[in-house]
Amino acid sequence: MKNFYDSDFKLGILGGGQLGRMLIQEAINLDVHISVLDPSENCPCAELANSFTLGSFHDYETVYNFGRTVDVLTIEIENVNTDALLALQREGKTIYPKPENLVIIKDKGLQKAFYAEHGIASSDFKLITAKSEITEFPIVQKLRTGGYDGRGVQVLKSAEDLDKAFEEPSVLESLVDIEKELSVIIARNPAGEVKTFPIVELEFNPQANLVEFLFAPAVISDEVEKKSFALAQEVVTALDFVGILAVELFLTKDGEVLVNEVAPRTHNSGHHTIESCHTSQFEQHMRAVLDLPLGNTELISPAVMLNLLGEEGFTGAVKYEGIAEVLARKGVTIHLYGKADTKSYRKMGHVTIVSDTLEDAKDVALQIKKELKVKA
Ligand code: ADP
Repeated sequence: MKNFYDSDFKLGILGGGQLGRMLIQEAINLDVHISVLDPSENCPCAELANSFTLGSFHDYETVYNFGRTVDVLTIEIENVNTDALLALQREGKTIYPKPENLVIIKDKGLQKAFYAEHGIASSDFKLITAKSEITEFPIVQKLRTGGYDGRGVQVLKSAEDLDKAFEEPSVLESLVDIEKELSVIIARNPAGEVKTFPIVELEFNPQANLVEFLFAPAVISDEVEKKSFALAQEVVTALDFVGILAVELFLTKDGEVLVNEVAPRTHNSGHHTIESCHTSQFEQHMRAVLDLPLGNTELISPAVMLNLLGEEGFTGAVKYEGIAEVLARKGVTIHLYGKADTKSYRKMGHVTIVSDTLEDAKDVALQIKKELKVKA
């Protein structure tokens, strides 16, 4: 078995977006060769990967052939051709997270069924194949596959909303009365070592239904913290998971903690770890899939992360406004993902603000939201 520092060792990533790009930043320190497969020749990883293959991660042959060229294969997007991964695994290829896990997680319906089977707390649900089966309101409808960043999820308040309901196979979930949205990033390596990052709190942009601010640490009771860690641990154990798993949770108004969904990869809710924790989620993912000891996950300082979303109504070649003002501030790090074009609410980058107190970091984040704009 090759070692990751052998000159011909290759870690392959399916997907060349910002998550892959931030993984490459960490791979440089350990001198890990990264090969990337992505369908876009100007994706965020294209110019940075040690080797880049242009092609679709949905296509069996493309994924299979790419997998043959690397020693360990991982992902930065779950919606990939899992049949090709299962075939590669049968031939002895090391693939983390395991393809069996991806089969379940990339389908929101199978994911909910998995929680029910394993007694993992999650909202009540029903699987449907056509919108004629929707009879109760209010209800949350989620496309089983292909949705992301809030696209493919909608609340149907009453029968009047049936016009906008999806016709495709979907999950109907009870509408949870949410007090807070939390996330636990948990890592496990093949040796079975498990480490969790401190729990964070997410605030959503109401128009786009995607994360706008992240606060670390979450302001929650010890009891909620304990329940959240326990749930994350239950999911990782039930899946026999290897890699980083982002466990998105709802804290309900009644103080219950429910699993919303999980992502089998590095996640937007862990970006602050680059500046605010001893080990970033990207380094942790690499350590996990390369079967190395996991790093310390303690928070060095409170942090706020602000997603840089394309301004509504601007489409085309990106122009950033306010970069110099933001760079002049203390404790602030800008991450631009290298996407040439912006569109409404596209994730173009993020900013992390570290400070002695969470309150301070929040004040600065609110200022930055006003001064830094993503336009075209
Ligand atoms: P995505 O995979 O696109 O991020 P999610 O399933 O995480 O989709 O849903 C996006 C957001 O929609 C959640 O973060 C939450 O704000 C809201 N949401 C999802 N499910 C429910 C639910 N059952 N009850 C209330 N709100 C929900």
